[in-house]
Parts: sequence; structure tokens; C-alpha cells
Amino acid sequence: MPAEHWVLSKTKYLAGLQCPKLLWMYYHAKDKFPPVNAQTQAIFDQGHEVTGLARTLFHGGLEVEGHEDYEAILKKTQELLPMRKPLFEPAFRYKNTFARPDILNPNQDGSWDIYEVKSSTEAKDVYYSDLAFQKYCYQGAGLKIRRCYLVLINNEYVRKGPINPEQLFSIENVSKEVEPYEAIVPQELERMLTSLSLKACPAVKIGPHCLKPYECALVEHCWDFLPGENVFILYGFKKDKEFQLVDKKIYGISDIPADYPLSDNQRIQWQCHKSKRTHRNPSSINDFFKQLEFPLHFLDFETVNPAIPFYDLSRPYQNVPFQFSLHILSEWERAPVHHGYLADGPEDPRPLLLQKLRRLIEPRGTVLSYNMSFELGRLEECVEAFSEYQTWFEKLKPRFRDLIDPFRQFDYYDPKQLGRTSIKAVYPALTGGSYEGLEIADGESASYQYARVTFREGIPEEEKARVRAGLEVYCKLDTRAMIDVLNVLKKAADGQA
Ligand code: SF4
Repeated sequence: MPAEHWVLSKTKYLAGLQCPKLLWMYYHAKDKFPPVNAQTQAIFDQGHEVTGLARTLFHGGLEVEGHEDYEAILKKTQELLPMRKPLFEPAFRYKNTFARPDILNPNQDGSWDIYEVKSSTEAKDVYYSDLAFQKYCYQGAGLKIRRCYLVLINNEYVRKGPINPEQLFSIENVSKEVEPYEAIVPQELERMLTSLSLKACPAVKIGPHCLKPYECALVEHCWDFLPGENVFILYGFKKDKEFQLVDKKIYGISDIPADYPLSDNQRIQWQCHKSKRTHRNPSSINDFFKQLEFPLHFLDFETVNPAIPFYDLSRPYQNVPFQFSLHILSEWERAPVHHGYLADGPEDPRPLLLQKLRRLIEPRGTVLSYNMSFELGRLEECVEAFSEYQTWFEKLKPRFRDLIDPFRQFDYYDPKQLGRTSIKAVYPALTGGSYEGLEIADGESASYQYARVTFREGIPEEEKARVRAGLEVYCKLDTRAMIDVLNVLKKAADGQA
């Protein structure tokens, strides 16, 4: 197909900058892309919400509605331009490019400024490429562009009452930063159009570009030649070294030569994958057990972290706990007792969560969390907002121990962990247990689903009940899994496993 046939949007332009194969596949092999999952959809939804709120900063703005009928939105844009009002998502086409700014704001001198809204808290190079592409398109279409702005989230903002968009957003003039990216747009477009016209997909090896600036949607497709126990699962191994090994056609961990320089933990991993055996260090595991005191409390939080804070006294992207699961084990031979809390409704979940935890956690005994900096960090933020719990928390803090430690230190490593130390990897590897088949099976889904059924209007009651039941099961399994994992460690410490 001739080059004139292709029309590139900014998404496709950025894809083309990342990888020619990715761009080619977008146009020639769309079926190879995985469907949008719930997490990606949540990111899109949040982006729309953030953009909608940013628009309120531009009074009297007019939206160019529609997505499918390009000719209609181009025509509508041309009708609105002479009104010299802020325009939301107007559309422009120039040569092989098509773009829509989030906000186009008119200036007195007849020029326009581009405002690109991002849910991020900081500017990134990829945003400058995005703006450079847009500027090329709009200027080519006849607009005079004066400045380029990024509308970013101000992560210092603390909500007090209704959201204040003036404070939530920070607007940066990035015209200077965009300039160097503008110069390369025409030649990059030419290169992309040429490669799009090829019948065969460009041959591109996997490399760091697969993960930056965004993780490519085709990683599963392009990386599927790697074995499951591949060099990318080496713990703490640098990315450039991983790709160097792949370049040498060393794909599996056990293919790594014996004299290849590895850290002590990577060497343990290498030996385990080669011998298909579990590594245990009973004396270090015993040291871990010496720090524990009954009753053992197993604590896990689920959190929401929206860009636009849901609650007063919280910042953008702050993880606010809305649920906990707490198992208490008074001695090895006794059955653990379970307690849980799942907030209901749009009110701030923290006061009740703190109240319940203070009541349920016994005055002595260890509190075990998995990757405890997360739970401790959340509690610290909670008591910052609700200072009446400060004294209680200060006393509780030293009682925390981290169940991830024996795994991070490689005192225990099972090759089935595939290099991961999270509870989602350790629990199935050590116990044969599974998160599979759960309605909600990971923290991101928990966060997304809770926010959806709690804050979105029009969710049927049955669906709400189903999601909430899924949340209860999931969070409870996280702490139950910790007990099961601790039991396996105990056997290892006793020399039985
Ligand atoms: S996975 Fe890597 S090589 Fe494959 S299309 Fe994406 S960026 Fe290109």
C-alpha cells in the first residue's frame, strides 16, 4: 500500500518511536494484541476523569464530541475555531497525521496554546514527543501555536472538602523542552510511513525498548520463544545484562555458564533451577522464628489510590486502606481466628479501620505482614490524618515483622517461585495453594473493583454484593496464605521440609 494511505495518530506515532514492529503490527496484525483488561481500562477511565476535571479550569470551553466519524469532527472543529473559545478535543489533519488536543486555548494575538492533560505527577520525555507531534499536525493544518503546556497532577495537594482543580493540577509550560522533539517529527514520520508500506513485519529483536517508555502490549507475543525459567527471572539482575545474555542466545537460567558472574542470591537461584531442588537455610530461618512472639497476627490491607483523592486528608495517588484481613494464631496447635473489615459506602474508611484494628490487635505478640513497609506506611499515613491513634501506632510499630524477609534473603527458594518473592508466587510454590479462579485475585483488581462498585453510579446491588464477596475471599486468602507459608518455613527450620 502506498505511504499516503496511512494516517498516524499520536498514539501510533509514539508506538512507532518505541518500535517499528509495534507500529507495523498495529496496522497489519491487530489480532495479535491482547484485549484491554480491567486494569488497563481502569487507567483509561481515570485518564478521562482527570481530563474532564482539568477542563473545568478553562471556562466557557466547547467540546468537539464524537470519535468514529472523522470527517464530522474535523468539520465541527472548523466551525468552532472562529469562536475563539477553549476547545476540548478538536480534531486536525495534516498530511498523514491526525491529532486531537485535550485542550486548545486561544490567545489574544490569534495564536493557540496546547494543553496536554496527564494523570502523571511529573513530566516525561514521551510527553514532549507527544506534544511535538501534535504541534506539527496543528501547525500544518494552519494554526499558529504559541506554547505547549502539560497539565499534571500535583501530588502535594491534600484534599479538604470538594476537589479544588486549581490546586490539584500543576500546569507547566514545556514549550522549550518540546522544541528538540519537534525537529525530528518529519523524518520520523517518513521512516514510519516507509516501514508501514512494507509487506513483511520489520524484524526487531527484543530489547530494553520493549519496556520503555511503556511496557509494550506485544511482550507476550514477541517474548514467547523464551522458556519459563528464563534469564529475566534472575533476582535483582540488571536489564542490560539480561538482554546481553539473550543476544548470546542464552535464554534459560540453567543455560548460564557456571563461570558467569552472579550475586550470591542469583547463584542460589541458578543452582536451584539447574538441579530442580529447593534451597533452604535452616539456621537463618530459625533466626527469623526467634523474632516471633505469640499470638501471631497476620495482617494485610487492600487499598485504593486514585489520582483524584476520594477522601479528605488524602493526597493524589495515596494508598488509602479500605479493607483488612487479620488472622490471629495464639499457638501452633490452635486454629487461627479470622477478623476482617471491608468498608461500605463512599465515606472515609480509615477511622473505622483504625478503631477495629486497635480493638482486635492484642497487647502483645508479633504482627506479621508480607512486605510490611506497605502496611506500616499505610498505618503511618492513617495516623497522620487521625492523630488520636498515634500513641497506639508508635507502640505497635516495633512489633511488626516481615514474612517476605526469608524469601528476599534467599534463605528459602523454590524454583517454582520463578524468581519472584511476592506472596502470589511464594504461596503456590511452597504449598500448592492457588489464587486461580477467584473473582478477585490480585491487589490491582481489588482496588479497581472496590472503587467501581463504591463510587460509580448505577451498579446493580447483586453486582456490588458479588464484588464485595470476592474482596472478602481474596483478602482473607492473603493472610491465610501467610500462615500456610509460615508453616512450611517452620518445617524447613526444623529440618523437616
Ligand atoms: S515486544 Fe518489543 S520487539 Fe515486540 S513489538 Fe513490542 S517493542 Fe517491538
